[in-house]
Amino acid sequence: MKCDICIQYTGCRRYGGLACAACAAFFRRNVLQPKSLLCKNFDSCGIENFQILKCQSCRFKKCFQVGMKADRVKASSPKSSDDESDTVAAPIEFVIFAQALENLVEVCKGDSEGTLRYLKEETSEVLQKALARFTQTYSVTDLSRRTRSWSLILYRSNVKREELPLLFQLTVIHFSYIYYNFFDGSIRQKLGTVVESAFRFQELESICKEIISKISMSEI
Ligand SMILES: [Zn+2]
Ligand SMILES: [Zn+2]
Repeated sequence: MKCDICIQYTGCRRYGGLACAACAAFFRRNVLQPKSLLCKNFDSCGIENFQILKCQSCRFKKCFQVGMKADRVKASSPKSSDDESDTVAAPIEFVIFAQALENLVEVCKGDSEGTLRYLKEETSEVLQKALARFTQTYSVTDLSRRTRSWSLILYRSNVKREELPLLFQLTVIHFSYIYYNFFDGSIRQKLGTVVESAFRFQELESICKEIISKISMSEI
């Protein structure tokens, strides 16, 4: 079932409405940190051309219209749902992949401009920053829960080294959508046509959705 708000991603019951992870995070953020939102289109932004994703005011109103409740947000305390990550370990190469991705996401969190350039123009500056960060923080003994759960996802899906650039880009696309509210359908489309022939594009995309789901909503 599609999210009732954006009609883009698969949704499930969240805060009383049928919402995807991104719209739920958006709702949660705006309930917990209210700010005044203003629509430039007389409160009429619809789902055509992803308009509603670009207008925070209309998106927030739609959340209430589809049944989401502010008090549900306040009542729920976010917990990360890492189940297996404490007991099982992935082979070291997948741990390294996960750490590289973790560093990339952390760099993207602190550099919205660079992130958008990476997605739009495929510049490598955020990748370079992530690499530098990786070199500084690298450790095999002190793994975060997230690194462990990501490495297990990558291991289970048997992600190959040559698939990483695409997987990283896809993950950053989904991440930016949730974290920056940045959505540009053309970027994903472009990626889709460039790599149309790429081995298991769809599968990689669902892997990165699983990866993103491990970022707990409280971080966003
Ligand atoms: Zn949605
Ligand atoms: Zn609007």
